This record gives sequence, structure tokens and C-alpha cells, in this order.
Amino acid sequence: MSTTNGGISFWYAQEGAPAPREPLPGDTTADVCVVGGGYTGLWTAYYLKKAVPFLNITVLEAKFCGYGASGRNGGWLYNGIAGRDRYARLHGHEAAVRLQQAMNATVTEVLDVCETEKIDADQHRGGVLEVALSPAQLGRLKAFHAAETAFGETDRELYGARETADRIRVTGAVGSSWTPHGARLHPVKLVSGLAAAVEALGVTIHESTPVTEIKPKHAVTPYGTVRAPYVLRCTEGFTASLAGQRRTWLPMNSSMIATEPLTDAQWDSIGWAGAEALGDMAHAYMYAQRTADGRIALGGRGVPYRYGSKTDNDGRTQPQTIDALRDILVRFFPQLAGLRIDHAWSGVLGVPRDWCATVTLDRSTGLGWAGGYVGSGVATANLAARTLRDLIQQDSGQSGPTDLTTLPWVDHKVRKWEPEPLRWLGVQTMYAAFRAADRHESTTHTPTTAPLATLANRLSGR
Ligand SMILES: Cc1cc2nc3c(=O)[nH]c(=O)nc-3n(C[C@H](O)[C@H](O)[C@H](O)COP(=O)(O)OP(=O)(O)OC[C@H]3O[C@@H](n4cnc5c(N)ncnc54)[C@H](O)[C@@H]3O)c2cc1C
Repeated sequence: MSTTNGGISFWYAQEGAPAPREPLPGDTTADVCVVGGGYTGLWTAYYLKKAVPFLNITVLEAKFCGYGASGRNGGWLYNGIAGRDRYARLHGHEAAVRLQQAMNATVTEVLDVCETEKIDADQHRGGVLEVALSPAQLGRLKAFHAAETAFGETDRELYGARETADRIRVTGAVGSSWTPHGARLHPVKLVSGLAAAVEALGVTIHESTPVTEIKPKHAVTPYGTVRAPYVLRCTEGFTASLAGQRRTWLPMNSSMIATEPLTDAQWDSIGWAGAEALGDMAHAYMYAQRTADGRIALGGRGVPYRYGSKTDNDGRTQPQTIDALRDILVRFFPQLAGLRIDHAWSGVLGVPRDWCATVTLDRSTGLGWAGGYVGSGVATANLAARTLRDLIQQDSGQSGPTDLTTLPWVDHKVRKWEPEPLRWLGVQTMYAAFRAADRHESTTHTPTTAPLATLANRLSGR
């Protein structure tokens, strides 16, 4: 059997296409209009409606809920947030520690809501295990472990090669760092369950309704305009397609493969009984999960960016990316060399120019947005949504500042990306440098990070 490429994602191939919801029938009004039916938009609708049940909330989704990264991701629900170190530099260490603690609590919050709303998303709280496969990766792993501990993660554990192998036998692993603040889940089961929960609360969702322009108090679509005091842009990697937003967040590709189910003997040879979310410390890093039905779903960067901020065609990825991901799988687990790859797909995530996630409500216009999670959006979208709820409640005089509205990522401003061809050239060069640095580190066994990667990080503003 050959590999299916695209079809949105393996997760949708498993679950089947969702039943479509009606498009917007014409001009209408709402108290809050949410643009985008991924985790950010749906969580925001969920928390707002829970807080103020009489609010009239409309979600406008271009395709269907979960069409974007929320229906395609690696299912790592974890406590990483893009930009924490920069926020520490801008607002002080304590502010960044509060942000980190809010992220730690967010992992538990998502799992708790899944339980309350009876969303079975194959969630399994096995934590996150990040492995080092070379001396240079080990150096970064130790520095990463120390930094996370300094930001209050005192329950993180550092393992040597033998302890790592007790959890998972990754060929060449020389150490690992494990945090309990993570869980593996099925992305589509989460987003579909969330959309159903939001609808059951009384939120209106219109699908097949692309918003062409967002302006104060208006979301314009080909079928009519929604007028609302608050209009929230929750379109992450697709933001560049909106009028006036071409250079706001860069749509970065991430691609994945899902193997056929492994046999018991294959699982015995690997271990991974804890089903931790698995990552490495490469510059062009990988991420993986052991799925509930016994496959390995593994992702990485592949071709990083399409010229002109274009997005993929319903999840199709490049053949060379499939080969590159298969190579990683076989490097990690050589005994799986003949394993069938059932599905490959890709999606886009949003990257701001300074690589910092943000959540904002512009009080003067009622326009809000959240995103730029740089590949760490599964949990972060939930924190962003609760923050948008608090910002709207504060703005409408229903509450004052809260623990969330005072976090350092709120209202953060960042400059736009460079125009093409500089944008494309910059990203291609950066990832070429990362790949060369990874090759150099694994072939020379140097204990220090390749200077090329340090330079690429500095030049890219990461
Ligand atoms: C392959 C891949 C793997 C990933 N793995 C992980 C992971 O394991 N862990 C993690 O934390 N993060 C991961 N991420 C990132 C994470 O999935 C995203 O950050 C997160 O899902 C973003 O949610 P969102 O709702 O903001 O955006 P999206 O899920 O992209 O939703 C945006 C929605 O807006 C809709 N839309 C776009 N334009 C318009 C318009 N004009 N009008 C109306 N609707 C519009 C889209 O159709 C889409 O449904 C991954 C991303 C990808 C692509």
C-alpha cells in the first residue's frame, strides 16, 4: 500500500470528514465575532460563552473547524511557549516565571475541560521527553534543562544514556530531559469535540465562510458582513491571506508522517511504554508521539516556507520531506526500516518576526488577535483564549485586570516580516544553516553547538 499524501491529515483520515455546518446566510450582528475555527477561536468562544452565557458569539471559518494546524498537529499538549526568554529580557525574570507557570497550569486545564466536556481525545499524560543524540545536543539539553528549572520547573528530570534507554531506546541517545507538563493527544478528536462543546453552549459556527477583510467592528465575507463590537482574528498560519496582514506572521510549514501500527515485538524493541511526547535537540528538530492505536506519528520542518507566504494544498507535502522524515524515523529506530508509512501531510504555523507568541485586544478598535505560537500552539491557544476572555471582560467593564491580562505576552508589538524575496531567502538560508549545523554536529561529535547555527539564530532574530 502506498503512502497517502495530504487529505488534510492522518488524523482526519482516521476520523472521517466532519459533517459540514451552514455558511453565513447574510449580513448579521453579534457581540463577539471570532474569525477562524481552530483551537484559538474555539477555546475563545468556549470561555467567553461560559463566562457570559447571554453573549451572542459567531465563529466564521473559511473551510471547516480544524482545517488548519489544529487538525494536523503532532498532538503535543505541553507547556512550551515561544518567546519566554525574550519576555524575561523585556519584562524581568519574575514576569516570565508567571508566564511559564500559567503554561504549566494550561496543560492541566485542557485535560480538565476534556474531562468536564467528555471529550475523548486519546489524551495521555506521559509528559515530554527530549533526547540528545550527539555531544553538542547533550550540551544544549543540559543548558535547556537548567533554564527550564530556573523558570520554576523543579519537577523536571535529567537522564543519562542508560536511564533514557529505560524509557525509550533511541539509537545513539546520550541523555534526555523529561517534564511532567505534557500529554499526547489526538488533535482532531480535540478540535471536533471542542467545536461540538462550543455549539452546545449556544455559539453559532458558520463554515465554508472565508473572511476577506477584518476592520473595526466588521468581519467581511462574500456572503455578508458580521458587525460586532469585538472582532477576533484567530487565523494563525493563514493570517497572511487576510487584507493588510501579508507580512504579519510568516506561515511556516511543518510536516508529519504516520506509520502503520507497530507489532508488539516492535514495541518491545523500542520501549516507550510511557507514551511520552518525544522530541530531540537538533536545530531542525523532530517531534513524535506514540498514537493510541500503536503507530508512530513523527514530524519535522522539511521544506520550511513557500514563496510569497503561500500555504499547502489541503495538507500535501513534498516527496523529499516524506523521505527526510522517514530517514529520521529509521535513524532513531533502525529496526523499523521496512515499516510502511501510511500517511504524510503538512500544515502551517504562524511565526512573528521576533518569534514571540502574542495575545492582544486593541481597546480603541475592539480588534483582537492571538497566535504566532511558532509550533507550540496546542496548549498556548488555550491560555490565549482565556486571556482574550479576560481582556474583553475588562474592556467591557465587567472585571478589572486579572492574573492573565497582566502576563508579559499581552499586547506585545512586533515589526513586520521583510518583503519578498528577502523573506523567502532568509528562511531558506536559516534552515540550510540549521541542517548543515546538525550534520556537522553528528559527524564530528563536537561537544559544542556549531557556530553556523548560533549565527543563523542570531540573524533570524530567534
Ligand atoms: C504539522 C504541525 C504540527 C504541529 N505540532 C504541534 C504540537 O505537537 N504541539 C503544539 O503545541 N503545536 C503544534 N503545532 C502548532 C499548533 O498546531 C498551532 O499553533 C495551533 O493549532 C494554532 O491554532 P489556531 O487556532 O491559532 O490556528 P489554526 O488551527 O491554523 O486555525 C485557523 C483557522 O482559521 C481558518 N481561517 C484561515 N483564514 C481564514 C479566513 N480568512 N476566514 C475564516 N477562517 C479562516 C482556517 O481554515 C483554520 O481552521 C503544529 C503545527 C503543525 C502545522
